[in-house]
Amino acid sequence: MSDTDTDTRSTTAVEVRGLRKVYDAEGAPVRALRGADLTMVAGEFVAVMGPSGCGKSTLLNMIAGLDTPDDGEIVLAGESLVGKDENALARLRRRHIGIVFQFFNLLEGMSVLENVALPAMIAGSKRKKAETRARDLLDLLGLADKSKSAPGVLSGGQRQRLAIARALANEPTLLLADEPTGALDSAGGAEVMELFRRLHSNGQAILLVTHDQPVADNADRIVQMRDGRVVDGDDEGAVTAVASGSGGEL
Ligand code: ADP
Repeated sequence: MSDTDTDTRSTTAVEVRGLRKVYDAEGAPVRALRGADLTMVAGEFVAVMGPSGCGKSTLLNMIAGLDTPDDGEIVLAGESLVGKDENALARLRRRHIGIVFQFFNLLEGMSVLENVALPAMIAGSKRKKAETRARDLLDLLGLADKSKSAPGVLSGGQRQRLAIARALANEPTLLLADEPTGALDSAGGAEVMELFRRLHSNGQAILLVTHDQPVADNADRIVQMRDGRVVDGDDEGAVTAVASGSGGEL
């Protein structure tokens, strides 16, 4: 991380203002986002909850630059995403975003170590450096002894921890997680949430979508979405979150 990055990260991780998106579903417009607002300070851990179809995944995808809004503003680590072309969005994503999904999206033909090293190599790191960082991450995430294994031999909780290690490969400003415990049994879910708490106590900003209240309770702040808007919880916890989000211990 450069000094400039550190300065940017010391303020706002992401700011979303008035985000709107209409999808055309078989001729009938679906208003997935209707003016969603969200601000996260650096290092904050926010959980997004709300009924199915209220726009949670759409919001996450927009912040990741995987989809573009019809209207509104997204500023990620000080840079506006709006109006950027796909290449520029991909560059910003590689630099600032790590993503974890419900169904791990692992590369089954590669080893655990290669799964984690690959994103850094795609972002331009030399293999040796990428593998060193991957080893450190696997160590941190308790998977060091699995580095040569295929992902297929891991338990559900271990597979999700591997997906999280991969998402952290490029030291993202913001870790996005869409129902990361949704496909896990309770032991696997607890394993993953304990890891999120630990990452957050080391200063990692996390934006987590979940329908599971005990999972959401791990966050500094819970925001509720309804009908394409954030209706509750926005901004109120930001200052406390900074105070509790850095340097905590588990
Ligand atoms: P949530 O994550 O809260 O369940 P989503 O963000 O996935 O909600 O979806 C919000 C609404 O937008 C839903 O009605 C969904 O069907 C619709 N939607 C999401 N993505 C698309 C798409 N690519 N094409 C058409 N409709 C979509």
